[in-house]
Formats: sequence, C-alpha cells, structure tokens
Amino acid sequence: MSQGMRKEEASRAAFEEAKHYIPGGVNSPVRAFKSVGLTPIYMERGEGSRVYDIDGNNFIDYVGSWGPLIMGHAHPEVVDALRETAAKGTSFGAPTVLETKMAKLVCERVPSVEVVRMVNSGTEATMSAIRLARGYTGRSKIIKFEGSYHGHADSLLIKAGSGIATLGLPDSPGVPEAVATNTIAVPYNDLESVQLAFERFGNEIAAVIVEPVAGNMGVVIPHEGFLEGLRKVTEDYGSLLIFDEVMTGFRVDINCAQGRFGVTPDLTCLGKVIGGGLPVGAYGGKREIMDQIAPAGPIYQAGTLSGNPLAMAAGYTTLKLLTPAIYDQLEERGAQLQAGFERNAREFGIPLSINRIGSMVCPFFTDQKVINFDTAKSSDMDLFRRYFAAMVQEGVSVPPSQFEGMFISAAHTKEDIDATIEANYNAFKSL
Ligand code: PMP
Repeated sequence: MSQGMRKEEASRAAFEEAKHYIPGGVNSPVRAFKSVGLTPIYMERGEGSRVYDIDGNNFIDYVGSWGPLIMGHAHPEVVDALRETAAKGTSFGAPTVLETKMAKLVCERVPSVEVVRMVNSGTEATMSAIRLARGYTGRSKIIKFEGSYHGHADSLLIKAGSGIATLGLPDSPGVPEAVATNTIAVPYNDLESVQLAFERFGNEIAAVIVEPVAGNMGVVIPHEGFLEGLRKVTEDYGSLLIFDEVMTGFRVDINCAQGRFGVTPDLTCLGKVIGGGLPVGAYGGKREIMDQIAPAGPIYQAGTLSGNPLAMAAGYTTLKLLTPAIYDQLEERGAQLQAGFERNAREFGIPLSINRIGSMVCPFFTDQKVINFDTAKSSDMDLFRRYFAAMVQEGVSVPPSQFEGMFISAAHTKEDIDATIEANYNAFKSL
C-alpha cells in the first residue's frame, strides 16, 4: 500500500498559486491542512472508494467529501442522472416535479418530517430552522452543545466544533454580542446542565439544537436517555427540539438517527448525503410549524438555486440507492475497521479510544472514553498529527483533524478495509 516516495510537487505549486487568490488558499478552512502542518492534497478525480491526486498518487478515501459520498465517488447512476438532468437545463427558478419527488421521499423516510424545504447547504438549513423556531415560539434564546458544529450562522458559532476546534479559534470575531448572548452552550451528554439552563431561562428558550450523534468533535455517541431527556425537557418548557442531522441523516440509518434512536424532534436539518455530492441542505418537520414559512406563513426564507434540478437528481438517486442491505454492509465494514485499528494499537501500545456508529468512525489518541468536547480534547494532538501524516504516506486519506470522523462508503470493499488496516499497522509502527 505504501506509496514509497509520495510526490507532492504539483500540490505544493497549486497551493502556492491558490493562496494568491483565495483566503488561505482554500474555500473551506480544514482543507488547508494547517493544523497537521502539511500541504493540502489537490484532487483530480475520485472513483468508488479511491481518490487520485494531481501528483499521480491515489488513496483509499475516508473523507468522502466530509460525509455526502455514502455511495462512493462518481457512482455511475448518480453521474448518469446528473448528465441526463444537466442536458435539460440546470436551473429554472420555477418549480419542477423532481423537487416534489425528492420532498416526498424525505417525508417518507424521516419520522419527524411532514413537510420539507430544500436549501443549498447545511448552514442554511440550521440557520433557517433556528429562525423558524424563534418565529414560531416568539422566543430568542437557543441551547447548543460545546464542540457541536451547525454551520457558520452567527448564533451557532459559539463554542463550535469542526474547523473552529481544529484551528483552536475562540468564538468568531464578527458575531455581535447581542447575538452571542442568546446562545447558551452546555456540554454534550450532560442533561443536568440542560435542565439547569431551562430552570434559569426556560420561558426564553426557543429551541435546543443537537447533533443526535455528534460528528464535529470527532464522533461522540449520545448516552442512553440523552436524546429522550432533551425531548422531554423541551416539551415541558414549550421549546422546540431541533435535530441537526446534516451529518447523521441517511448516514447512520435509512430513517436517520431519529429512526435509529426512536426519538422524534420537532424540526430536522439535513444536508450532505441528501445532496449526493452536490450542494444541498434541507429542513423539515411538523406541518403546523413548517407552515409558518413563506409563502405559507410570515417567516421568510428563500433561495435562487434551492431545489435546483442537478442537486435534486444527485440526491434523489443517492437516496434511492440506499437500502437496508447497504447499512448492514456499512456496519460490517465499520466493525472490521475498528477491530483492526484496535488490534494494531494494542500491538504497539498506543492509547486509542475509538467511537463508532455504523460507517462513522473516530480514533482518539487517549485512554479516556470520549463522551463530550472536553474528553475529545484529551486526545494527544501531536500523536494525531503524526498518525495523519503516516496514513497519507501509506496511501489512506483520513480527515486532517482530530475533530472529524472517518466515513466509510458502500464502495469500500472488505479488501479496501484490509488494506487500510495494514496501512494503519505500518503507520502506528512508525509513531
Ligand atoms: N451541521 C452539521 C452537523 C455539520 O456536520 C455541518 C458541516 N460539516 C453543517 C451543519 C454545515 O453544513 P455546510 O457545511 O453544508 O454548511
């Protein structure tokens, strides 16, 4: 698997050039590999479980465009759907029947969703859901969890995970104090803190927004009873419960995390997988609440390219490809990968604590059980950096951040996982 001398001249040159014209050289921060101290790898193409860079290297890929590519890169049916759709025009700014087909499928599969509005990113989905929750309840405050990431809308950039955590940034400059004071951040998996916040601010809290499996502080699984507890306390105080399933939606279950855990929120945010690799987000929920959105109701939200044919075609085709058998296979591959990494860590005495749900996997370099942002931060970041560099050298693309999970796709074969475990063996050996 090892690529011997991995070439990177072309990527280096491409990054230097990009820095002249793009802030930090990238269009989304974690892509710059800043926290791992390497040059970003410029990709040329992807196929199935593999990505190919502009220097002629190839990698078994566990980034999967940060989650969307559950069927693998350039899935033939998705590509065909895109080609066919593009030939008929890429956007009309008028409704198409494909949007209804897509909405109907999402409503059928996501327990909480009776009505759904398409947008263009996860950020738009959560931002719009928060506005809706505030408008519907007439309240201003929201509760979120430390180390969770819900996109980059002002009110959600408080104690956030993902790139903010990776770069060690404080809450972002540019978020007005007046906005920040309406966001209450508490530790994940800590119902007592949520309860206390409600006791203090109950009648002012519009919503609790939660990743039903946290995926932006690495992967953190909800404790038994945590999601149920959030459901109860929000009901008790007349607040809305918002599940941000941008990452978990159709990733952890055909009925999303809410189907898997049997807890039904008031509103659900989706993204990533439902776009099949094109820019998509969505938010949906109870009709009574969703009907407050324009033009049915007074709360405004709109989008020039929302529900555009290309995004709908890629998303619809991807969702249709997802069968229960695919999730069984993803679980099998995930378990295989986890067992292999754990075996390797034991052999070399490396402290490793793996959190996994199906095809979302995160190795933390710590002896502690990772249950929230504080314990996630107990991971040895220097060890992570060296592990990342070694994995890339061995021909495996993993997220360049301790605070992101690996994604396995349906295109990953048993042999791909075997090769990844072997690469991981060599990587751990070199640490
Ligand atoms: N919510 C969650 C849970 C996410 O993981 C992300 C992105 N990683 C977002 C929201 C934001 O989505 P986008 O990057 O599409 O704006």
